[in-house]
Amino acid sequence: MSIEAGLLRKVPGVDRVLAASTTLIDTFGRDAVTHAVRTTLDDLRHAIRSGSTAEVPSIDALGTRVAALLSAADQRSLRAVYNLTGTILHTNLGRAVLPRAISERIDDILYSPANVEFDIAEGGRGERDDHLESLICELTGAEGATVVNNNAAALLLVLNTLAHDREVPVSRGELVEIGGSFRIPEVMARAGCQIAEIGTTNRTHAKDYRGAISDRTALLLKVHPSNYEIAGFTKSVSDVEVADIAREHNLPFVNDLGSGSLVDLKRWGLPHETTVAEAIEAGANLVTFSGDKLLGGPQAGFIVGDRALVAAVRANPMKRALRVDKITIAILAEVLRLYRNPDQLAQTLPTLRHLTRATSEIEALANTLAERIGARLPGVTVRAASCTSQIGSGSLPVDLLPSHALELIPEREGEAHLQRVRQHLLQLPRPIIGRIQSGTLVLDLRTVDDPEGLLANILADPSP
Ligand SMILES: *Cc1c(COP(=O)(O)O)cnc(C)c1O
Repeated sequence: MSIEAGLLRKVPGVDRVLAASTTLIDTFGRDAVTHAVRTTLDDLRHAIRSGSTAEVPSIDALGTRVAALLSAADQRSLRAVYNLTGTILHTNLGRAVLPRAISERIDDILYSPANVEFDIAEGGRGERDDHLESLICELTGAEGATVVNNNAAALLLVLNTLAHDREVPVSRGELVEIGGSFRIPEVMARAGCQIAEIGTTNRTHAKDYRGAISDRTALLLKVHPSNYEIAGFTKSVSDVEVADIAREHNLPFVNDLGSGSLVDLKRWGLPHETTVAEAIEAGANLVTFSGDKLLGGPQAGFIVGDRALVAAVRANPMKRALRVDKITIAILAEVLRLYRNPDQLAQTLPTLRHLTRATSEIEALANTLAERIGARLPGVTVRAASCTSQIGSGSLPVDLLPSHALELIPEREGEAHLQRVRQHLLQLPRPIIGRIQSGTLVLDLRTVDDPEGLLANILADPSP
């Protein structure tokens, strides 16, 4: 008998390994453990046949292999990461991060039934929107409000409700694509309305709106161009003018603001971005905006404005498919309440805290971290350097904020070395996502809330 055949005969049966794996079975379930034991034993037989193993491990050692397989398979796909890309609202990294104080306040809602559609005062059926509507109206000056899954859903629902089988004139300069496959013309088509393109890419005039209106026109729409800006020989029609034209023709004016700031960012020395209240004041009958962009909340889409139009939107059967759950309602209520005290917002709301953080503070952090990391990352030089952050998610697209970063420079030049550093950061207990810029890996520190945690993480061993 060959050595190989002798070894193969010593490989224990599945039952023997399973019998020694009761703790694993309690944790992972019998089926998963059985599957992992089979895989482990198959791998072992394969290794024996190929000559890469000359012994059969003990049952205990095989159990360790089974446990490793099970733990690897049990790794969560969705994990917390460090967003050090310099883009504060990064769509691929989940956009706005929520204030920590929220979790204890929504705990009860998570673990018990809640009056989502139940009116406690009346003891009968209530409206899902009741929990947010008055707060939103208070903060925006609107008469009515409803909330759906995201702003794409908000626009889809508004257009489908008010413009199905009819025409909507839109400036060619506003037929934009806003990342993540959201394209205004496609959403309009799916909402069942026809686009009447007006003006040109760079210039649209009031007479273009007037000329496009017919008895097929359902409403006038303006879309915030969000992630790009047309500069130079340009002309667009102001919100007030479009509102006037809409009123002259008895048509609703819908303004898709995109980011939907609830406070004037000029207060913190940032560039002005039209607030929802300003858009309402300028005469929009409905305004749509996102919950997780500048507003700094969870993914959600707001539809605010005239009471009758909001009621029509709410009555659309599609609303049922786009509505938000109790968890989103609970988180939104907490985030919106922070806006009642705008003086504290730069402390209480992470998005605004990150946006308004003093450059000197970020610089001090970069210097401290660079010094403390020193030469402790093998093969990499770490130094503090200036950089620029951006807001992201189509908010204030061309404005860059001066910031500071850790620059990780591989000691040996070349793309492969840079990629190795990048991989190293991705394999840390909490993956670190930076950006590559002229041969270095740049970690913008603007969004770091826990420097000690970041430091411990950078110096930790990567997972295999
Ligand atoms: C971001 C954006 C949207 C889409 O919003 P989501 O919340 O991502 O669905 C729609 N319109 C404009 C103008 C935007 O900027």
